[in-house]
Amino acid sequence: MNKPNIVILGAGYGGIMTTVKLQKKLGVNDAHITLVNKHDYHYQTTWLHENAAGTLHQDRTRLPIKDVVDFSKINFVQDTVVSFNPDEKQVILENGQLDYDYLVVALGFEAATFGIPGLLENAFTINNINSARLIREHIEYNFAKYNNEAERKQERLNIVVGGGGFTGIEFVGELANRIPELCKEYDIDRSQVRIINVEAAPTVLPGFDPALVEYAMNALEAKGVEFKVGAMLKECTPNSIIIEKDEKREEIPTNTTVWAAGVRANSLVEESGLEVNRGKVEVQADLRAPSHPEVFVVGDCALIMNEETGRPYPPTAQIAIQEAEVAAHNLAILAGGGSQLETFTYNDRGTVASLGHDDAIGVVFGDKKLFGWSASVMKKVIDNRYLLKLGGIGLLLKKGKFNFFG
Ligand code: FAD
Ligand code: NAD
Repeated sequence: MNKPNIVILGAGYGGIMTTVKLQKKLGVNDAHITLVNKHDYHYQTTWLHENAAGTLHQDRTRLPIKDVVDFSKINFVQDTVVSFNPDEKQVILENGQLDYDYLVVALGFEAATFGIPGLLENAFTINNINSARLIREHIEYNFAKYNNEAERKQERLNIVVGGGGFTGIEFVGELANRIPELCKEYDIDRSQVRIINVEAAPTVLPGFDPALVEYAMNALEAKGVEFKVGAMLKECTPNSIIIEKDEKREEIPTNTTVWAAGVRANSLVEESGLEVNRGKVEVQADLRAPSHPEVFVVGDCALIMNEETGRPYPPTAQIAIQEAEVAAHNLAILAGGGSQLETFTYNDRGTVASLGHDDAIGVVFGDKKLFGWSASVMKKVIDNRYLLKLGGIGLLLKKGKFNFFG
């Protein structure tokens, strides 16, 4: 194959890191590389809950792709992928089509709503910059409206977050900091506002260290978050949600249900005809699709089994970034005519979850537990490390988080 045509779909963690690594490894005479993304910016999905709560503006979270990708080496196409066909080696875009010799699928995730009635129509999700901004604006609008109606409507001030996984907990952590500011701004008594987290399992953050979970719940309850654990969100209407606990149903009036109770791979993956397991491609050790060796899959669209637990590794930015490095390495080998590909081994560096910008919990370096200020500093260090890796010191200084002392 003379100068292969490499197409990368998606410029999230997996796609942009594959591109940035490839542009260092290959010259313009080695391969023709195309990156396709819906927008001309990359965003850090891991900060979207802050944008949604309004504690961080979305312009801090997104950065122009041209700031990290060299457009003299990479052909950037701003377009939406409609479908891709691995048998035809073709990608259909809203405004054209692309052929490839090698494809990298890095199209990320979408909300999994498990067919719960009314969710798709009435709930909000934290998926991308636009959906996060909508939540912030919607909450503000409801606060603004509250004092402008003859009849006070409690549903304007009740915010329900479905799911007490990491996304749900990080989001209520931000809300707990944001709500007092909004109350001041819109002449509302803080005690009127409810932030309710609904979790189906007996505890939030199921499977995480119990002492840290207790710390998180206490810290958030002290800031006015209500937890309903062992409670399934069953139905969502425009003005309420229905939950079920111990076989009893409760209807909570709310105009704002944020669904943070599960994600699945971008459905384009399943629609492509690639063989899937739980909607994802269970990739080989070299990150290629078993049925199509010219297709690499990284990030939330890929499934890799953890041999120790017999369960898939959870979809995280951490694993997406590591996969991207191996995918780029392997593509460079294939582009150079080689065939000895590297196998992927996940290096679990731990998990840190924020509880607002000033508090956090985490387990790092194997079994070291962190909470409070030290955990929140660690969270910012992790975020800053990513920026450094992606765009060097310039990007770190421009976009990094340095508010270590509150
Ligand atoms: P993404 O980063 O989602 O990128 C997908 C890209 O594809 C986007 O740029 C999107 O615009 C583009 N795209 C999608 N569809 C199309 C289309 N049809 N056409 C063109 N472009 C398209 N993980 C951690 O490790 N640590 C954390 O602290 C953490 N915090 C999180 C906080 C929140 C609020 C959320 C929601 C997730 C968090 N995660 C965290 C999980 C992590 O964000 C994901 O696992 C990670 O983003 C997956 O990377 P990806 O490259 O697969 O997809
Ligand atoms: P998740 O699947 O991890 O958690 C969803 C939660 O919703 C679960 O606890 C589940 O029991 C609950 N749930 C499901 N259906 C429900 C229902 N009908 N009613 C009430 N509760 C219900 O999803 P997530 O929190 O969005 O996380 C997605 C991925 O992103 C995970 O891999 C996570 O590790 C990662 N993430 C990591 C971080 C971090 O490291 N700081 C932050 C956010 C997300």
